Amino acid sequence: MADVVVIGAGISGSASAYEMAKEGLDVVLIDRFGPASMASGWTLAGVRQSGRHPAELPLAKSAVATWATLAEELDGDTHYRRGGNLRLARTPEEAKIIEDLVREQSAEGLELHFLSSTKDVREVAPAVSERVLVASHCPTDGSADPSSTVLSFVRAAERLGVKTRFGERVLKIEIENGAVSAVVTDQGRIATSRVVVAAGIFGNEVLKPLGYEVPLQIPMVTVLRSSPVDSVLQQVIGVANADCAGRQEYNGRFRVTSGLQDWHGGLIEQRLQDGGVRPRVLPTGRSMAEVVELFGDVVPAFAEAQVEDYWAGLIDMTPDALPVIDNTLDVEGLVVAMGFSGHGFCLGPVTGKIICDLVQGRPSRLPIEPFHIRRFDTLRNAQEPATLHG
Ligand SMILES: Cc1cc2nc3c(=O)[nH]c(=O)nc-3n(C[C@H](O)[C@H](O)[C@H](O)COP(=O)(O)OP(=O)(O)OC[C@H]3O[C@@H](n4cnc5c(N)ncnc54)[C@H](O)[C@@H]3O)c2cc1C
Repeated sequence: MADVVVIGAGISGSASAYEMAKEGLDVVLIDRFGPASMASGWTLAGVRQSGRHPAELPLAKSAVATWATLAEELDGDTHYRRGGNLRLARTPEEAKIIEDLVREQSAEGLELHFLSSTKDVREVAPAVSERVLVASHCPTDGSADPSSTVLSFVRAAERLGVKTRFGERVLKIEIENGAVSAVVTDQGRIATSRVVVAAGIFGNEVLKPLGYEVPLQIPMVTVLRSSPVDSVLQQVIGVANADCAGRQEYNGRFRVTSGLQDWHGGLIEQRLQDGGVRPRVLPTGRSMAEVVELFGDVVPAFAEAQVEDYWAGLIDMTPDALPVIDNTLDVEGLVVAMGFSGHGFCLGPVTGKIICDLVQGRPSRLPIEPFHIRRFDTLRNAQEPATLHG
C-alpha cells in the first residue's frame, strides 16, 4: 500500500514525488524506462519566463526563483545558470514581433529589454552573428542540465523514502466506488488511493480507460549536441519564428534544436549496457542539416563545432499549448500533470509543489484554472501556433 503512486520520472513526476515525500507521504515513483528518459532528457532545458503565455507566467516566475537554490536544496547538481535569454530577429518582420513581445511582457511586469541594434545585441552576446537585427533580452532567464536535475530530484526523493521502480510500466489505474484503489503494472499491483499521471506523451494510455483524454498532437524536434568547445555563449538563444534555438552547456557542448517538425512515428527501444532500455527517436539527415544552417547562421561558432550526438524529442502538445494540471476530475484521488507543450522543464520544480498541494486536497498555491482538463470540452478543435523557444 502506498499513499501516492506517481507515474513518470520526468521532471514533473520526480519533482512531485520529492515534494510529497518532504511532507511525509509514502510515495512510489514508477517509470517504464528510467529518470529523464523522454522529454525531460531530450529537452533544450531552457528556464525562461520570456515568451510565456500570461497564464503560465506566474508559474514560470515562481520556478525561476526556486531554481536559484534548487541544487543546494536537493544536495545535487542542476548546473542551473541564470545567463539570460535572447530572442533574435533576422528580418524587419521578425523585428516587429520582438518589439511587440517586449511591450506586452513588460506591461505584464517582466524585466524584458529591447536591444534595438546589431551592436546592442552583440554587446550582450558577442557570439551572435552580425546578421541579427534586434533582440529581446531577459536577464533573469537561463538554463539547467536536464538529466542532472531530474536525477538530483530522484536521489533526494529516495533519501526521503520514496520507492523508485524503473523499467516497470503502468498498465492501468483501478477504480472502486469512484475513487482510485490501485495501480497495475507489468510487474504487479500497488494498492493506493492517489495517483499522479505525469507520463508525458503516454499519459492518455492510462487516462482513456477512465474516460478522460487530453487532446494531444505529438510533433518532434531535432536536437544536435556538439563536442566541448571554448565557452562563448552564456544566454539561451531563440528566434522570433521559433525555427531553431540553442545554448552552450556548462561543459562547453552546444545543445541546439530545430523548430517543431512532423513526427514520422518511429520510436526505437534501445538496450543499454546496464540492462536498461531507453527510447530513442531518430531525426532525418535533412532536419539535422537544417538545424546546422539555421542556428549556425545566428551563432557561427556552432557550425564550426563537431557534432557528437543527435536525437529527436517528442512534444505533448495540447490545442492551446498549455498543460493540464488538475485534480478536479470525477475520479477521487486522480491528479494529472501532462501536456506541457514544449515548455514544462522550467516549470518542473513548481509543478511538483502544486501537485503536492492537489494530492492533499489543498488549494493550489498558484492559479491553475487555465490548466483544467475541462477546457477542452470547447477547445478541442483549436490549435495555437506551436512554438519552441528554449
Ligand atoms: C527538444 C525539446 C526541447 C525542449 N525545450 C524546452 C525548454 O527549453 N524549456 C522548457 O521549459 N521545456 C522544454 N521542453 C519541454 C520539456 O522538456 C517538457 O515539457 C518536460 O520535460 C516534460 O516533463 P514531464 O515529466 O511532464 O514528461 P516526460 O519527461 O516525458 O516524462 C514522462 C515519463 O513518463 C514515463 N511513462 C510514460 N508512460 C508510462 C507508463 N505507462 N508507466 C510508467 N512510466 C511511464 C516515461 O518513460 C517518461 O520518463 C522541450 C522538449 C523537447 C522534446
